[in-house]
Amino acid sequence: MRDKENGDPGRPGSQSSLKSANQHRVVRALQMSGELTQAEIARRTGLAPATVSNMVKELTAAGMVKELTAAGMVTVPDGDHPGQRGRAVRLTRKMGLAVGIDFGHRHLTVAVADMAHDVLAEERVELAAGHRAEEGVVQAGTLLDAALDRLGCGRTSVLAVGMGLPAPLETDTGEVGGPSILPGWVGVDAAAIASDHLGIAVHVDNDANLGVLAEHMWGAGRGTTDLAYIKLSDGVGAGLVLDGRLYRGRGGTAGEIGHVTLDEFGQVCRCGNRGCLETLVASHVVIALLEPSRGTGLSIADVVAMAENGDAACVRVLADTGRHVGVAAASLCNLLNPERLVIGGELALAGDLLLGPLREVLARYAVPSAVRSLEVRVAELGSRAQVLGAVALGLRSALPA
Ligand SMILES: [Zn+2]
Repeated sequence: MRDKENGDPGRPGSQSSLKSANQHRVVRALQMSGELTQAEIARRTGLAPATVSNMVKELTAAGMVKELTAAGMVTVPDGDHPGQRGRAVRLTRKMGLAVGIDFGHRHLTVAVADMAHDVLAEERVELAAGHRAEEGVVQAGTLLDAALDRLGCGRTSVLAVGMGLPAPLETDTGEVGGPSILPGWVGVDAAAIASDHLGIAVHVDNDANLGVLAEHMWGAGRGTTDLAYIKLSDGVGAGLVLDGRLYRGRGGTAGEIGHVTLDEFGQVCRCGNRGCLETLVASHVVIALLEPSRGTGLSIADVVAMAENGDAACVRVLADTGRHVGVAAASLCNLLNPERLVIGGELALAGDLLLGPLREVLARYAVPSAVRSLEVRVAELGSRAQVLGAVALGLRSALPA
């Protein structure tokens, strides 16, 4: 936040710049976490408790933050003693909004959240499968305006937009790659056309990155600093939050765990390599293994239901899937030593039928110290992971520098 009172935020070492920088740190810490007690703000910003107390008073007077009367809604548990918990502090709606736009195969969802990380409105429509990118963006603008209308706000309240597309993104050009289940978007710079149309900065990311952001903010990864998320669906990919930040790598390719080689002479993968993890565990591979004996037209939900009813083949295939993922995840844990591994995507429906064998293989192949305190959990957000991840991307993009 700029210090509007004296208009001199830049003079280093002066009381005025210190005050402004401190306000900036408090606002940033709140925006990162959604809600914090004053003790938590002090710890995260390194500011003295008395300074934090003054900052909160000033920001409250300016209508930028509010203190809740009870601390029962704290969303970021981090081991405070109950006696140290004060009242929770959050940013007000005056501090702006963040938006998530999620394009699915046949639907479009737009969600709006405040800087306290509360999702305030959500709108959804069906989409024509072959729609052009421009048509999709116009629809998104219409839904966004409807959602903002319900909140009594306009587009000027929106600080940033996150957007998810079920398609590969070319990291050097920003273009949507092919082949895609959204053919009308191939070759389009999605972030550019959406930013142009909406008049707001739009950031686009892939499904695994959106998944890890959503689970980190609202789901099974809450409260972690180093989180790995593996999405197991028709595509397989990992999203990584390292040291509290989304890790994309130099060109945005980090997390391509689906293309880790497990069998050098195995099936040819869509990436051109052979025996990638994805060729062993993608949803359609799991189903193809079972269809000869269990009939055609199966879904992953069917396979999980049959396994839960004791079908030996379904149990075996889900367990083997967990083992394959475990081999690749063991390497991931050796390299990155995350504190939690969250398994998402439709195969996460299998729960411990898949996670049990995965944990066994992790224990066998990973360096013991890399997984000793590792928790492996099922993702919590299910089919909402994408739109919530887009909102989380918007919230992160709205952070002050
Ligand atoms: Zn591959």
